[in-house]
Amino acid sequence: MTIQIPTDELTNYCARVFERVGSSTEEARAVAASLVDSNLTGHDSHGVIRVPRYVSWVKSGELVPNQTPARLVDTPAFAVLDGRFGYGQIMAPRAVDIGVEKAESLGLGAVSLRNSGHIGRVGEWAERAASRNLISIHFVNAAGSILVAPFGGLERRLSTAPFCVGLPREGAPPLILDFATSLVAEGKVRVASQGGKPLPPDALIGPDGALSGDPSLLYGPLTVDNPGDHLHGAGAIRAFGEHKGSGLALICELLGGSLTGNGATEPERRFANGMFSLYIDPKRVDPSHLFDADMARYLQWFSKAKPIPGQEILTPGEPERRARAQRSANGVPLPEEVWEAIQATARSVGAAP
Ligand code: NAD
Repeated sequence: MTIQIPTDELTNYCARVFERVGSSTEEARAVAASLVDSNLTGHDSHGVIRVPRYVSWVKSGELVPNQTPARLVDTPAFAVLDGRFGYGQIMAPRAVDIGVEKAESLGLGAVSLRNSGHIGRVGEWAERAASRNLISIHFVNAAGSILVAPFGGLERRLSTAPFCVGLPREGAPPLILDFATSLVAEGKVRVASQGGKPLPPDALIGPDGALSGDPSLLYGPLTVDNPGDHLHGAGAIRAFGEHKGSGLALICELLGGSLTGNGATEPERRFANGMFSLYIDPKRVDPSHLFDADMARYLQWFSKAKPIPGQEILTPGEPERRARAQRSANGVPLPEEVWEAIQATARSVGAAP
């Protein structure tokens, strides 16, 4: 069963939970608003389903409320930030704002972010840069979250290491390509394990090499004592796109992990997102101002390709915009199990119902 919750009520409720585990009112609201925004864009895997896990991370000390990033290096062209294991919903927008300042001044800027709490839907940060008319490119790893088998492998070696590019457009919504380099994001396995949308039948690989869509391959049998710890499963998520996707995942580990100082994913370490981002001002790179008009022309032609019967051609970012329009009007649909898990977490920290 699914229930529909108005976005304001859901945001306020989740914010109260984060406040109860130590966040300032401002931080609690920012984290809750970002999670609800993921639900609004249709990415339930990165939405409020994460509330119980964030709270358990705060309780175990893995995630630390009320942090600001430390600037370890700051030159006109680039900055290196340490998120000190604070909420990613605070660290990522700060990293974007610093990248934006640099790109606005030089035409180009780079920002490395290490030791950040979970930054959620990376597209939100590309949208933030695009709202300042900047292109952005993001390579992300999720150190400590070892989930994905490389192409040709049976064992986990990679995180779901997302890759994201945002392109601003004049008078039109930005183009945002944002995806996990695994066949499905881990959160989608979690959503499926909690009664949500089932996984594609080839999303996971078992230790015997058999392909499957059964979430217990990742989490083990789900019980009260094991509500979904990915360390309990014998299988792995598959990298997307065969050898090419697996190669891009590796690059995300090396740039988002090794280069940022976050460290590429390894077993049994504290969770942290690392993000290496480039920010580019198209007006400075393209003095002839071809970029926007040519992109508009090309996207129109691209979208007008004859579709496969019963299908349509969308540009990256369009599915999220459609979901946002629909869900903003009707509220966020949540499987009953997810809503119950959030309420149980809220009760456990004494948040008013
Ligand atoms: P996905 O498979 O839904 O792909 C999303 C991308 O594909 C978007 O750019 C979307 O606009 C585009 N898209 C979707 N359908 C399309 C269509 N029919 N035509 C054209 N374009 C289409 O996303 P995912 O891989 O499940 O990732 C979900 C989210 O998880 C992302 O926001 C990602 O950033 C996030 N994530 C975060 C972490 C982390 O550690 N913070 C890790 C993994 C994933």
